[in-house]
Amino acid sequence: MELRMKTIFERIIEGSIPSTKVFENERLIAIKDIAPQAPIHLLIIPKKVIPNLQSVTEADEHLFFEVIQVAQKLAVQFGIDESGYRLLVNNGDDAGQTIDHLHFHLLGGAPLAHMG
Ligand code: AMP
Repeated sequence: MELRMKTIFERIIEGSIPSTKVFENERLIAIKDIAPQAPIHLLIIPKKVIPNLQSVTEADEHLFFEVIQVAQKLAVQFGIDESGYRLLVNNGDDAGQTIDHLHFHLLGGAPLAHMG
């Protein structure tokens, strides 16, 4: 029996809560972030339930290249492929992860605060 609560992203993937979808295939969905931190702020979300980066295994390796391919396409679609963008994952509390379903932030459209 499934006792785990579904995350917001699982509900978005199954369509039980609304989102602004910008991409979808069998493995990934991309949506607009509800509280954008940059003029373009998209979330690329694997449909497979993977709580965080730390729980990724070799079985998921194909997903990562596909995430980059989708990010490249969305960057062109949203006009930030030449101006630049950031693709990032927040993993765990100290990084500020708030939803325990792996997702990649794609941010751009203005100069972003330097990190790293
Ligand atoms: P993180 O803090 O890395 O876990 O990122 C979670 C992101 O999901 C945040 O940027 C939120 O603004 C975003 N978010 C939360 N709820 C929704 C929603 N219903 N639709 C779209 N984005 C959401």
